[in-house]
Amino acid sequence: MNKFKKLGLGLLTAVAVIGLAACGNEGKESKKDADKKSDKLSVVTSFSIIQDIAEEIGGDLVDVHNMVPIGLAPHEYEALPEDIEKSTNADVVFYNGLNLEGGKSGWFFKLMTSVKKEDSKVFEVMKGVEPMYLGENSGEKEMNPHAFLSPKVGMTMADNVLKAYEKADPKNADKYRENAEKYQKELEDMDKVYRDKVAEIPEKNRTLVTSEHAYQYMAKEYGLKEGYLWEIDTEENGTPEQIESLVKFVKKSDIPSLFVETNVPPKPMETVSRETKVPIFGKVYSDELGKKGTDGDTYLGFLKSNIETIHNGLMK
Ligand SMILES: [Zn+2]
Repeated sequence: MNKFKKLGLGLLTAVAVIGLAACGNEGKESKKDADKKSDKLSVVTSFSIIQDIAEEIGGDLVDVHNMVPIGLAPHEYEALPEDIEKSTNADVVFYNGLNLEGGKSGWFFKLMTSVKKEDSKVFEVMKGVEPMYLGENSGEKEMNPHAFLSPKVGMTMADNVLKAYEKADPKNADKYRENAEKYQKELEDMDKVYRDKVAEIPEKNRTLVTSEHAYQYMAKEYGLKEGYLWEIDTEENGTPEQIESLVKFVKKSDIPSLFVETNVPPKPMETVSRETKVPIFGKVYSDELGKKGTDGDTYLGFLKSNIETIHNGLMK
């Protein structure tokens, strides 16, 4: 009797386990079905700026998962389990390129290799943008990834996003084109705002001083000179040599304001400000959008906030 009872319990346990396992599978299946039913293009982006452009042009036809969250630099990143799952199943994966994600040996391509992502589903939004280089004076030339700070480049990014959607989801191409056209119009207006605002700044004040050498594309496009503390956030930041060299530059330039990025420690620039008596006018965005609810929480808002801050600071 005892033996039988034990066996019975054993069976019951086994049945329960199978039941649970079956339930687990069922749950997964129905979730998959739900995803299919939603019929949205599944999109993964490497960082916040691309996420916003991908959502603007994709509208309600796409479901976007972004990887590097606001608050972390996109140059180095450790993919989370959710990033791995979404990348595996994505119809479209967008990355910046120009070495933003560390290039071919960086975190992004490591992830794509590990999930065996087909090349045909991976799209570089900077495709067609002429690279500019950091460290030209030191002899260690490195591509500058921060092209997105220029609205002119934003137009190319938006165009590459559109082309990817047309390829991945041709039956909805008209809708994507309609969204892209509207968005391009706004970027064109932003490009004009940049030209007009820079033209208003007295010529002798047209120098932008920031921590990272991130504004190179924007500065070249709209006619600003640049001063900076370090070439890229991944190198040592705020060394005495970097500070001394910028202090010299600022004293020579006779400019009214310095700026500091939202995503870097402000201390080194504060030191420059103290030693030159040139005030830090305000914060500018560089590697990421602003947090939800701030003026920079969309790419267009990010661009607008930057040019307004720079304009107001250099008009003084
Ligand atoms: Zn950066």
